[in-house]
Amino acid sequence: AGILNFCANNYLGLSSHPEVIRAAVEALEKFGAGLSSVRFICGTQSIHKDLEEKIAHFHQREDAILYASCFDANAGIFEALLTPEDAVLSDELNHASIIDGIRLCKANKYRYKHMDMQDLEAKLQDAQKHRLRLVATDGAFSMDGDIAPLREICQLAQKYDALVFIDECHATGFLGPNGRGTDELLGVMDKVTIINSTLGKALGGAAGGYTTGPKPLIDLLRQRSRPYLFSNSLPPAVVGCASKALDLLMESNAIAQSMAAKTQRFRSKMTAAGFTISGKDHPICPVMLGDARLAAVMAEDMLNRGIYVIGFSYPVVPKGKARIRVQISAVHSDEDIDHCVEVFTEVGRKHGALP
Ligand code: PLP
Repeated sequence: AGILNFCANNYLGLSSHPEVIRAAVEALEKFGAGLSSVRFICGTQSIHKDLEEKIAHFHQREDAILYASCFDANAGIFEALLTPEDAVLSDELNHASIIDGIRLCKANKYRYKHMDMQDLEAKLQDAQKHRLRLVATDGAFSMDGDIAPLREICQLAQKYDALVFIDECHATGFLGPNGRGTDELLGVMDKVTIINSTLGKALGGAAGGYTTGPKPLIDLLRQRSRPYLFSNSLPPAVVGCASKALDLLMESNAIAQSMAAKTQRFRSKMTAAGFTISGKDHPICPVMLGDARLAAVMAEDMLNRGIYVIGFSYPVVPKGKARIRVQISAVHSDEDIDHCVEVFTEVGRKHGALP
């Protein structure tokens, strides 16, 4: 019998969409398996330029630059942009790739408490002595499914003359009325300066990442960003997938809306069954269990019953906050969602997570 996957970042189900697969095959046949080169030598084809333009258009930004992954985009941006005279202010729960990217740069580093605007303001005040300030945050945090308070962050950034950077890996394609991301959802598209995101999750799920923002910044990254300069160009099939995924999203928001409705269905049914689900309105639905062993045995038992989910415990999440992270996709049917809730309820009762 088939197993239902509830732990992929395939939020919109586009990695198995027939048009996305066909676009990859066509790009492979027309443009070859790969470029055997970095972008600036002989690794740029028309499809790379077209995809960069499409990404910028999708996010309503001036320009975009592709990377082999969003990990690379995050590794490459801070060092290229910031000098020892500058400051970067980072949410303590930012993704590992942001943390590593910041480690590589020589700017002054401030770490503010998770989504704590008072702490951010205090750190911004302290950072006034530096030449330039950059606030860096995940748009949506992948462990808790919570969304950064971007309106407040942008207000503080304006007050203290800072730039705002967001990592939209868990938002691009589905958050906001047209799936543009957290900045669209919270009405601050014109206030966020830099967006990094991935092509390896909602946008077809193959691989690749990018930075989009003001043209002078993208020009600077093309000159200075090490993962861009010194790593191979994205393979045509991967470019084809992402390009088609963006076309589908720009034609209609029906897929994103279907995923949002299923997320709502899962969250409300699980809450009614007695579970605590962290975050709000996000397809990352962490089922909070507390105990690490309970999360592990429940996940194993769920798999035995045909539901593929993973338990997360320390050090991936704080001690005592173990959970099973469920991720909803547009390709789940209502019946799949209901079945998942039934299995959770059965397994939860068996292991004492529910009365
Ligand atoms: N940023 C966040 C918030 C992520 O969740 C991930 C992937 O797990 C990345 C960056 C890295 O993305 P990629 O897989 O494209 O390297």
